[in-house]
Amino acid sequence: MKLVGKVKIREHKRRLIQVICGLLYNCNFIGFAKGNIFQGKVKGVCVPGLNCYSCPGAAFACPLGSLQSALVSAKYRFNYYIVGILLLFGVIFGRVVCGFLCPFGFIQELLYKIPTKKVKKGTWSQVLSYFKYIILIIFVIVIPLVMAVPGFCKYICPAGTLEGGIFLVALNEQLRSLIGTLFSWKVGVMLAIMLSAVFVFRSFCRFLCPLGAIYSLFHKVSICGVEVNENKCIGCNICVRECKLDVAEVGDRECVHCGDCIGHCPTCAISYKNPADRGRNDYGKEEFKKN
Ligand code: SF4
Ligand code: SF4
Repeated sequence: MKLVGKVKIREHKRRLIQVICGLLYNCNFIGFAKGNIFQGKVKGVCVPGLNCYSCPGAAFACPLGSLQSALVSAKYRFNYYIVGILLLFGVIFGRVVCGFLCPFGFIQELLYKIPTKKVKKGTWSQVLSYFKYIILIIFVIVIPLVMAVPGFCKYICPAGTLEGGIFLVALNEQLRSLIGTLFSWKVGVMLAIMLSAVFVFRSFCRFLCPLGAIYSLFHKVSICGVEVNENKCIGCNICVRECKLDVAEVGDRECVHCGDCIGHCPTCAISYKNPADRGRNDYGKEEFKKN
């Protein structure tokens, strides 16, 4: 099969996983008709990606929302479950979650497909990529601990505003009468983030997402994801140049393991760590020989 065909199939598979995840996370379809929040037993179970608890369709919990709730009540009890589940997702998937299992990452990729001039990465974006760690510390850890308020959910989360706030307000008449300054602020933040994603690839994931910041800390140990075979690598750096994110090398803290670079590597040095995929990505060899 031709190189372009195989790259497209890989991309389609990733899209399919992103769609399935979005549907699975929000499989309480009846909630969209009723305009209320699902309260069943499984609602305590966290999914790996960002998905607002308050979305009428949400059947599970958001790990970031759960972490903030745990910190808000930290003086009463330590929540081993949320710490354990984040460690588990981090060790198994790392930022594979961002590339495959996060509905908001998928939404941003769709927005980036809108045909318009794009803003390329550079020193400015590399510097901004550290901003998500500041958001993590201030809004996810300090504000919940000190002010007993889930800072990120309350003031920033665009996924919460899109999936929870807007849907709920549109479907629930009682809530519409409660709209105030905070809701307007959050809609403004969400619109700014979504607009930026049209021009800057995955702007929210790269600069603002605290969940991505948490998973990035596992990049050296995570079981899944892409890796480079050092024996095949010739150090041409094409992978880093072709990547739309601020990676310094494949699989580092900024890499969301989308696999786009696999098809660009002239020596087929990049592959997924999953043993089932290993050895299959040798479709770059022909291209390398031609050059
Ligand atoms: S494109 Fe392939 S050969 Fe070139 S630096 Fe990246 S991994 Fe190495
Ligand atoms: S380094 Fe490769 S796998 Fe990682 S984000 Fe960039 S293109 Fe995707």
